Amino acid sequence: MAGNWKMYKNAAETTRFFEQFRGLVERSEHCEIVICPTCLSLPAAVAAAQGSRIGIGAQNLFWAKEGAYTGEVSGPMIRSAGASHVIIGHSERRQYFGETNESVLKKTLAALEAGLTPIVCVGETLEQRETGRTETVIVDHCQGCTSGLTADQFAKILFAYEPVWAIGTGKTATPEIAADAHRVVRNHVRGVYGQASADQLRILYGGSVKPDNIKKLMAQPEIDGALVGGASLDPISFASIVNF
Ligand code: PEP
Repeated sequence: MAGNWKMYKNAAETTRFFEQFRGLVERSEHCEIVICPTCLSLPAAVAAAQGSRIGIGAQNLFWAKEGAYTGEVSGPMIRSAGASHVIIGHSERRQYFGETNESVLKKTLAALEAGLTPIVCVGETLEQRETGRTETVIVDHCQGCTSGLTADQFAKILFAYEPVWAIGTGKTATPEIAADAHRVVRNHVRGVYGQASADQLRILYGGSVKPDNIKKLMAQPEIDGALVGGASLDPISFASIVNF
């Protein structure tokens, strides 16, 4: 269960979140928990999560290790701050910051090289869904974002299926729609990497996941977890998603 905090919570707010959240998920051993704050709040999150099972992730990285890239943060920098995961290719980054399959692929390779677990986001817009292109777009994202990865590299990544029309809109995909899309991802992976890779791949669903819809989503065998935006900002709400 991963929380994407987007551009919310400074260091002090991060620390306060963990003071409450840690106790609420202390006994939650059925899943991995990852929280992705802004880069500036990474050190506070890592410190506050120390000694717990909660992993910390970044929301983006740049593919070079260092250099003249004003405003960017590299994989080794994120790793040295104590993070274990990184979200790559979130639709907000594709929409507002020109992220493409090519940049997602470069970033995924950089994350793996830095020892971070990439959470690679794929998913269609409303217009693409309404014009019957959902499957084509999902396969294009999966193919383009991981093209050329070896089976060993591929085994280290997570996918998040996030239909753009469901992110931050309050419109969750029905469990059946989400499961269908996850099947598209898994079938694609089976074709490229084989049955074993497809079986072991974890695919998170993201898009308006809330405490009151998580149970039905997780009842779908295809759905392995959730990437949660808005509802991960409140410790009680995110804990009840974790403890569905
Ligand atoms: C997200 O940011 O990845 C997300 C799914 O947001 P929300 O849960 O708010 O729709």
